Amino acid sequence: MSRQPLTFDIEARDGEARAGVLKTRRGEIETPVFMPVGTLGTVKATRFEALEGELDARIILANTYHLWLRPGTETIRECGGLHRFIGWDRPILTDSGGFQVWSLGALRKITEEGTEFRSHVDGSPRFLSPEVSMEVQSALGSDIVMAFDECAPGNASQQDARTSMELTARWARRSHTRFCELQDSAMDAGRMDSSGDLNGKQALFGIVQGASHLDLRRESLDRLVEIGFDGYAIGGLSVGEEKRVMYDVIEDIAPRMPADRPRYLMGVGTPEDLVAAVARGVDMFDCVLPTRNGRTGQAFTSRGKINIKNSSYARDTRPLDEQCSCSVCLRHSRAYLRHLHMTGEMLGGILLTHHNLACFLDTMRRVRQSIRSGNFTRFQQEFLDINAESEVRG
Ligand SMILES: [Zn+2]
Repeated sequence: MSRQPLTFDIEARDGEARAGVLKTRRGEIETPVFMPVGTLGTVKATRFEALEGELDARIILANTYHLWLRPGTETIRECGGLHRFIGWDRPILTDSGGFQVWSLGALRKITEEGTEFRSHVDGSPRFLSPEVSMEVQSALGSDIVMAFDECAPGNASQQDARTSMELTARWARRSHTRFCELQDSAMDAGRMDSSGDLNGKQALFGIVQGASHLDLRRESLDRLVEIGFDGYAIGGLSVGEEKRVMYDVIEDIAPRMPADRPRYLMGVGTPEDLVAAVARGVDMFDCVLPTRNGRTGQAFTSRGKINIKNSSYARDTRPLDEQCSCSVCLRHSRAYLRHLHMTGEMLGGILLTHHNLACFLDTMRRVRQSIRSGNFTRFQQEFLDINAESEVRG
């Protein structure tokens, strides 16, 4: 049965960098795009009005593993699907839970069938497999569904990485089979899903694994392309390998990924990483850095990072970033933000998170503009020069 859950058109290129438009049933997404992470159905410390309005995030990410455990699939289904449950009409990408389960370490056991683990919430035994992950993501009604994968550590040996990659390839096939069954049965029935949209219109992305071994990465990609996905992701990076290794994998793999499909780099990274990956051909990103660091007092600025705890900001009346036009920078000083952070006021985390998200989203906006105007190479050079210093002075 033919499905076209999304279309992707590349409108400009500059070297390997691409600027395009990803069209989904819930709205258009200009790429390259940064997707704020909403693990439990909330982009932490951020109201949806801000995401839709000032920040203008076009798509957010949610975590299958976490939502499956709490509040649970049935609760979300009964509340009308994930979009209605959280009050967000724009696209959502859900990850498969593979990475979260892998991150549990000793608490999980991986077999051919799937992964057995104990819930980090109440210790209850759970089982996640490609089929279960597809069923949960189908019930959530996300716009982009991720295949269930197995991650290998960044420093995994060739043999360990091969075993993991081959398991991921078999799980990708099973994910695809179950996903198509779920989509087809919904379409055949002509059923409306609980969120009011025609079901059978989700997109499925495959995930390339293989740790730092380029031959395995290429084989992983080939096996995914043979199955055929709506988009392709690079997983298993930023998991302990050196940054140079990460860039080498992206540089080798991204340009080999199908040119007419979106390319998504999972869980990476700093603004410099994003710009460097765009230069290597990546279109989509997600990362917890802007939100997590916002809560721990670190701000990303156009001139590098600021640690608001630093005593030098105690009477600093300048905004976090003089180049930033976000509502936090227009209204508040570093001194006030430091005061909020030091006294544990929740507004401190809220304001820093807002600014950080504005910084990431605005960086991608400038990336898109520079690709469209053919100035990306110069933009990249200037951007990396300015951000080379890890911490802003004074
Ligand atoms: Zn700002």
